[in-house]
Amino acid sequence: MITNCAPCPRCGKLVSVNNLSSISDTLNNMLRKLRIECTLCGQTELLRGNFDDHINQECPNVRVSCPAMNNKCPWIGQRNDLKNHISTCVFHQPPLVVAEIAAATKLSTKDLLSKQPISFEEKSYYEECKEYYHITGKPLISIAEEVFDNNIELKSSSLKIGIDEECNQFDLQSFLTQFCNKLHINIDDIVVKQIQVGSSILEAEIPDKLGSNDKQLRLKMIYQSITDKLQEEFGKMKIFFLFMGPIKSLFKIQKYRTEIKLNPQYNRIYDRDYNYWEGPLHDGRDRGNKPYYCPIGWKRCSLYVTDKFYEKFKGWCICYHGTKFSNGLSILLSGLKPAGIKVYGDGIYATPSVNYASHPRYSEIMPIDSSHQKTFFKSGKYLQFILECRVHPNNIKQTDKETLSVKDGTTIDSNIKNEDIEWVIDDRNKTIVDFNDPDSSIICTGLLIRVTDNHPGLLPQSQWWFNSHLCDYKKCCALGIDLDSLEGQRQHENKCNIIYE
Ligand SMILES: [Zn+2]
Ligand SMILES: [Zn+2]
Ligand SMILES: [Zn+2]
Ligand SMILES: [Zn+2]
Repeated sequence: MITNCAPCPRCGKLVSVNNLSSISDTLNNMLRKLRIECTLCGQTELLRGNFDDHINQECPNVRVSCPAMNNKCPWIGQRNDLKNHISTCVFHQPPLVVAEIAAATKLSTKDLLSKQPISFEEKSYYEECKEYYHITGKPLISIAEEVFDNNIELKSSSLKIGIDEECNQFDLQSFLTQFCNKLHINIDDIVVKQIQVGSSILEAEIPDKLGSNDKQLRLKMIYQSITDKLQEEFGKMKIFFLFMGPIKSLFKIQKYRTEIKLNPQYNRIYDRDYNYWEGPLHDGRDRGNKPYYCPIGWKRCSLYVTDKFYEKFKGWCICYHGTKFSNGLSILLSGLKPAGIKVYGDGIYATPSVNYASHPRYSEIMPIDSSHQKTFFKSGKYLQFILECRVHPNNIKQTDKETLSVKDGTTIDSNIKNEDIEWVIDDRNKTIVDFNDPDSSIICTGLLIRVTDNHPGLLPQSQWWFNSHLCDYKKCCALGIDLDSLEGQRQHENKCNIIYE
């Protein structure tokens, strides 16, 4: 309230606002309709009643401070120049309030903007997730392992959604409506907690009125309803990242990613001159009495599995499972575990031989185009991913011979007989075996990568492919080149080298 005194323009007496009585509504309305001119910008014909709005929101010549003032940005200037300033302002970690609102009211982005600036770790993490989105057109999707563990009480269950759009252009209400429609959930089922900036990172919660079990169930249902097609639709909505579970466990993964980046020794290169051994490894570790041979030619990226890894997986043996490019890339960039392996027939197939898993029937061969090349694969031309897994020996239902019609007398792996090269793992009657499920009979512990300067079919260790089934029909063998041109290069004895750095 204004309490200053001012002289009356007619009689000169000092009066305070408190001494005045208000005019009638009719008179007030007439005054509001008076046309006036703004002396700052010269605009005429302004309604007097709208003058405050003009000054507070429009007048280009009013002096304003930067919205990042609270983050110590000293800038003050004409509103005219503010947009320019913001585009270069280093303090501009968007401002305003964190609000928790019930989703029923009209949602607006600006009411939910968090004043917590996004951390460096988190930001660089999302940048990597975005790479995946730009390459595949789909969001990177993951769910925390706690969601599958009925022994853990879910205190909070969040959805964290990354949208590749500037916050100030982001229409929250229409986004959420679309998002919930696609997932067939009610918009009241989630409560928006906050929006962080950069790109828009939206954090929503399943409300507390639901018990822990219900929350878990709800998240599992959402997760299971996300089909390939839905992923593409999410991609079109510019969603580049979707995480389900307690935010704490996302932070854990993000922290682990940063640590790996700072400590590249967590990642291993397996070859002569790097980590190398011949025959079974004797390091005193219990791997379920199955020999562990050096996966020569592959580089391993470790994944965060659990805090007490060795304790929990003591006695589990190492095996491999070839995987699609997009699956491997999502793991590589996010450090998140893959969604799961589809079960075909009577079990899950894995192999103790990395060389067997490298066949294009199992591990997709991806030509690296120049735009991806620059970002992470440097001078490579082709790339393959294999999942490094662990399985408890009791879960191996049987060992089997190879299933690629390998000709007699052909060696796939000098350490392992062709007759014992496939393991059939108990799927416990599930159609998808999820690596995030702690009760899963197989878990994923690392990602193996092989980057080469030419087609990997030209490597000496791949020559058995040509004595086995091999085709270039993409749904069967993801060869990444047509078979004739690969055969041609073999005739010319073209060479291929593995690139490690
Ligand atoms: Zn007077
Ligand atoms: Zn003005
Ligand atoms: Zn500023
Ligand atoms: Zn084939």
